[in-house]
Amino acid sequence: MSFLKLKNISKKYDKDTLVVENLCLELEKKEFLVLLGPSGCGKSTLLRIVSGLESPSGGVLLLNGKRINDLAPKDRKIGMVFQNYALYPHLSVFDNLAFPLKVKKINKVSIKNKVNEIAEIVGLNNYLDRKPKQLSGGQKQRVALARALIVNPDIFLFDEPLSNLDATLRHSMRQEILRIHNSSGAASIYVTHD
Ligand code: ADP
Repeated sequence: MSFLKLKNISKKYDKDTLVVENLCLELEKKEFLVLLGPSGCGKSTLLRIVSGLESPSGGVLLLNGKRINDLAPKDRKIGMVFQNYALYPHLSVFDNLAFPLKVKKINKVSIKNKVNEIAEIVGLNNYLDRKPKQLSGGQKQRVALARALIVNPDIFLFDEPLSNLDATLRHSMRQEILRIHNSSGAASIYVTHD
């Protein structure tokens, strides 16, 4: 039995436009899957379906053999990293990282310990008091990566995470993503047009 299974997934935003058509896909734990396709072909839509931000119009999503079509995003152990970082601008780095744990009602001491642990892993410990606007693009993407990592996800979803970074940073961040993937034991889906 595969870890994540998509059976005949389709998605229509309106009745005439089929954005994803009968997509079947299986993913094992520790597997790193890259989906390559031109802009507009439905890559983000697919990630949003896996994360629960969108519902499929047809088909079944199975995690460990269990149907998760109706499972709320917060109840799926998924860490998602977006091209535009999607950080909360009014919150400090600490609070951005703490956010997914607060949603899960984890106690303050555990949150502090976990944020410090994850900040150490991605080299952000000296930036915890800063707001996103006080960070470089690379540092913002590191916060986004750390925020995905902090929930101990079963699945990482990467939506063009390197597009806003320059060539040097793209290279180092690519290594970082692989390192995090390899050390976490999670499955990853990475979408890109590049
Ligand atoms: P990609 O990530 O491959 O660039 P998307 O999944 O973002 O592609 O979009 C696929 C298609 O679905 C595009 O034609 C886009 O315009 C359309 N689309 C995406 N989101 C919506 C939405 N919320 N409502 C209507 N159409 C959408």
